[in-house]
Amino acid sequence: MLFHTFAIVQVSNNSFLSTPIEFLKGVGPERAAVLKKEASIFTFGDLLTLFPYRYIDRTKFYSTQHIDNTQTYIQLKGKLKHIREIGEGRGKRLTAIFYDNDGEIELVWFQGVKWLVNSLDPRETYILYGKPSWFNGKFNITHPELEKLATFNDSDAGTFRALYNSSEKMKAKSLDSKGIAKLMLTLLQQLRPEHIVENLPKHLLDKYKLFGKFDALKNIHLPQTLSLQAEAIKRLKFEELFLIQLQLLQLKIIRKREKGIYFEKVDHYFKKFYDDALPFSLTNAQKRVLKEIRKDTLSQQQMNRLLQGDVGSGKTIVALLSMLMAIDNNYQAAMMAPTEILAQQHYVGIKELCDKIGIRIALLTGSTKSKERKQLLHSLQHGEIHLIIGTHALLEDSVQFNNLGLVVIDEQHRFGVAQRAKLWKKNNIAPHILVMTATPIPRTLAMTLYGDLDVSILDELPPGRKPIKTVHRYESQRLAVFGFIRDEIAKGRQVYIVYPLIEESEKSDLVDLMNGFESISRAFPLPDYCVSIVHGKMKPENKDFEMQRFIRGETQIMVATTVIEVGVNVPNASVMIIENAERFGLSQLHQLRGRVGRGAEQSYCILMTTHKLTADGKKRINTMVETNDGFKIAEVDLELRGPGNMEGTQQSGNIDLKIANIASDGHIIEEARKAAIALLEDDATLQKQENIVLKQYLQQQKIDNGFWRNIS
Ligand code: ADP
Ligand code: MG
Repeated sequence: MLFHTFAIVQVSNNSFLSTPIEFLKGVGPERAAVLKKEASIFTFGDLLTLFPYRYIDRTKFYSTQHIDNTQTYIQLKGKLKHIREIGEGRGKRLTAIFYDNDGEIELVWFQGVKWLVNSLDPRETYILYGKPSWFNGKFNITHPELEKLATFNDSDAGTFRALYNSSEKMKAKSLDSKGIAKLMLTLLQQLRPEHIVENLPKHLLDKYKLFGKFDALKNIHLPQTLSLQAEAIKRLKFEELFLIQLQLLQLKIIRKREKGIYFEKVDHYFKKFYDDALPFSLTNAQKRVLKEIRKDTLSQQQMNRLLQGDVGSGKTIVALLSMLMAIDNNYQAAMMAPTEILAQQHYVGIKELCDKIGIRIALLTGSTKSKERKQLLHSLQHGEIHLIIGTHALLEDSVQFNNLGLVVIDEQHRFGVAQRAKLWKKNNIAPHILVMTATPIPRTLAMTLYGDLDVSILDELPPGRKPIKTVHRYESQRLAVFGFIRDEIAKGRQVYIVYPLIEESEKSDLVDLMNGFESISRAFPLPDYCVSIVHGKMKPENKDFEMQRFIRGETQIMVATTVIEVGVNVPNASVMIIENAERFGLSQLHQLRGRVGRGAEQSYCILMTTHKLTADGKKRINTMVETNDGFKIAEVDLELRGPGNMEGTQQSGNIDLKIANIASDGHIIEEARKAAIALLEDDATLQKQENIVLKQYLQQQKIDNGFWRNIS
């Protein structure tokens, strides 16, 4: 148990916030049921942290004379005239003229005509909110929001109006954005500072000039000015990111206090491999990283290290040499890969290298047959296997080691803190952990996903690599592309052709792939050419058969989906063709491109697209054509992707940000991390009175969401 020293502290006086939502005026049982089901709002506190997704500026009034585009919503103040129904049946509509001191604009409604005719009043002054459109040579506004000046002044106490997400079922109970805003107002009118637990210490609020939590919550829902709204959001984002950093860094500190496995010596296997089996000399970057790893394993603390390196920078050999350090000290080592193909390939490659030094190595995946598996698990538990390579199957409880000393996770940012923690339990003393990402990830994302790890970077490619030449070609240039493939194959090279299959279940993608395969097979017919195909729907043994044929050079063209994306290594393959390249994300494109350029020959990547490209699509393609630098590509990728779309943030289940955005809040992440480091340097266990709020808050979090459950 890591946390036995912490007492359970109840966070004080949040009874107001834990009041069931049905007790809020205007809610009642039916609306409460919908709020619970559709928005997970059970309490006052839940409602309070339903943050707006956007604001509309109700401070600014346009004049009917100054409407000049159809892009934005505008607000007008004026009266109505000529309210009339026109048309019949389905063409029936209501029109009116809205006028202010400067001029007029036509309004049109296609729905609710009858009700509107009776309720719109030419004597009233209205506030109008809507989006103008250009029709028949003039502007009009369809279905504007209209509110009588009198009630507008009451209801919009704030000058910005917050907009809230809602669902159809919520709307059916009048809980659209406006309905939610109304409830929020009721709640905020009852909210007192003492209801809110301030979870950031005062010295932080002062130092970073942050709003108190009460002010932040009030102003995020009902800001009076743009700058108040910005301050409110900044405080809440800082809080969210700071608390993540604090937890990650605290975890790191606590781990460093736990005893780790000591690798006393570098001996027989490592030296023998280095002298007899290593097929090349290491790059300086590889040597540097190995020294960092060696230092960790001598420190008597658990290593938790992230190894970042571009595609092809040679992470595998670093992993292998690290595993040999473990084996030299009579420990076992494990390597976990994200896909079966990759695990298989690591196995074959590493086995070949290790045969010369007599290491016992095994492969465990989901498709390992049960008899073989049973035997394997037995040998593993009795220490007869030195090194095991596998997929997620390694995480299962039935996989027991004799003495596991090091785990390497070769991943595509897929595992979260909790999953990593599962591996620690495979030994009495937590084994050393080395996590390797498939392609570089941006600093701020690494800080958030892997903030508890130390970082090593391979910033040098092995010598003699020719940079891959990347070009963009349109569908209409396909014949020329095929001609190019023929030339390359004539030189003895091999070619990948990759089709998108984002969801392996998407039928139309599979059809595209099969059509592609057929037309390629026609263009490159037997007996001169042999074409392989690999996709996720195939049986593992068939996949493997096709893969092996390509690896052995028996087929020249490999038609595939992204199953070949990760790590596959066929140095003789020199051309990567990516079909519908606009449909791939940047890091995926870079990862795919990294399948070529692994041998001494000049390699090529051809990005095929249609002429129709979105702005983002164009930027992705251009970035690929312009640079081979995975670190640069990662930054552009982060910039292009909206919140929640970064690869890895969703799958990992590791971070679920409520308000901050990893892509656009990089500077707040940096600031929050700095703040957390400084605070923990001063008060690692949060013992100081001034930090007590943090300690209590984190303690409460652990109880509420079980963040630490997998770790203790
Ligand atoms: P990645 O970092 O993408 O996992 P790999 O470990 O698969 O890269 O290495 C890519 C290729 O480079 C492999 O064929 C590997 O044998 C080779 N390689 C690795 N290190 C060196 C080196 N120092 N000199 C020459 N080739 C190397
Ligand atoms: Mg790799």
